[in-house]
Amino acid sequence: MGKVSEYWNDDIETLPPERLHQLHEEALLRQLKYVWENSAFYQQKFRKAGVELGDVERLEHLNRLPFTEKSELRDSQIGSPPLGTHIASPMEKVKRIYSTSGTTGRPTFIGLTEHDINVWCEAACRAFWTCGLRPDSVVPLVVAPFLIAASYADALQKIGMVVPIGVGSTDRLIGAFQHIGANALLSTSSFPLHFADSLTKRRIDPKSLGIKLIMAGGEPGAAIPSLRQEVEETFGCIFLEMMGNGDMCGEMWAECKYKKGMHFIAQGIVYPEIINADTGEVLEIKEGAKGELVYTSLDRECIPLVRFRTRDHVEVTQTSCECGRTGFGIRVFGRTDDMIIVQGVNVYPAAVRDIVASLVPRTTGAIEIQLHASPPKGWDPPIHIKVEYCEESGELDLLKKEVESLIREKLIFRANVELVPPGTLPKFEYKAKLVRKFYDGESE
Ligand SMILES: [Zn+2]
Repeated sequence: MGKVSEYWNDDIETLPPERLHQLHEEALLRQLKYVWENSAFYQQKFRKAGVELGDVERLEHLNRLPFTEKSELRDSQIGSPPLGTHIASPMEKVKRIYSTSGTTGRPTFIGLTEHDINVWCEAACRAFWTCGLRPDSVVPLVVAPFLIAASYADALQKIGMVVPIGVGSTDRLIGAFQHIGANALLSTSSFPLHFADSLTKRRIDPKSLGIKLIMAGGEPGAAIPSLRQEVEETFGCIFLEMMGNGDMCGEMWAECKYKKGMHFIAQGIVYPEIINADTGEVLEIKEGAKGELVYTSLDRECIPLVRFRTRDHVEVTQTSCECGRTGFGIRVFGRTDDMIIVQGVNVYPAAVRDIVASLVPRTTGAIEIQLHASPPKGWDPPIHIKVEYCEESGELDLLKKEVESLIREKLIFRANVELVPPGTLPKFEYKAKLVRKFYDGESE
């Protein structure tokens, strides 16, 4: 019979903090020694920073090492194709190469050895199991084969059954539910509502597909209460969030059924830090801590990374949970790249979007922040924000005032909200551009 435990990996997912600390310390020292011996990129980087292997004897000493920026990896690959000087294993040991989507620039290539493939599979199994995937789960896989997410097939079939679909084949996807008995879906956060539209157009009731679980990865958003509720009601399922990082590990975070933030589940594989993005200072992991996620590989052959800055800004939501997992919980609330600074206050467009989404169905949830002049002038309040109203909006004047006062209260800046008819702005998509700049020829 299949495994029926609450956890994929009982030993590691419930480790008490002291034992996890010990495990991570041992793994870190092992990985750093390997990096020092095998990565030309880090040999050069550490020499430049004036640090030596002996400088790190404990987990707490990790902050003596410099951060790794995404741009350095990109430059390293341009200068030394295909995998860059940060490759630490011989090319003949590399068994697979994935590519990042390149949402924020030129894609980078991710090489995996046999060992790396197995480690990623272990992490993804823990993530899917945390979300509730079980041996009787049947999952259609709708993903481009070059992307990291294609690696999930290994883990999905280790737990349950995979039905390969590919991208852009809605009828084949529907068929997997209607004819093969698929009962779970892995997608981006914005996909389920698009899928529901396609079903309605075909006069198919989304509930009739028998989907019990939708796991959203690739982009945050599933934890926005209004979106979660709409997807769960539309399909009659649970909708949970997961997260990985293309450069680090396919899956590292996943929500359990208690929905209190994504648990860290990549213990022994990756070491996460949360830092103050401005000062680089390491923050204590406790409820309410807010900062940028930084990752260090603990068990990687091909491209181990040290203190890799993600630009993902997160808040720690929990350090213990009814499910018994000891991996702390987080939510993502924005990316540094999107951030604008209004009178010294950091403003994440996604946070504005979350406030407007909290007023659904009086708004559609869609927003666009309009910056008409270059900073600092263009970022002086009031900030011009377009918000879509709905048929159920009621008095528009009141809605405008309410959005403006919520923004002032929660995000501490003044906004001038312009209500626009439904369908004017791009439909809810996490990666949709939430900011439009009308200067420096940047208007798009
Ligand atoms: Zn939990």
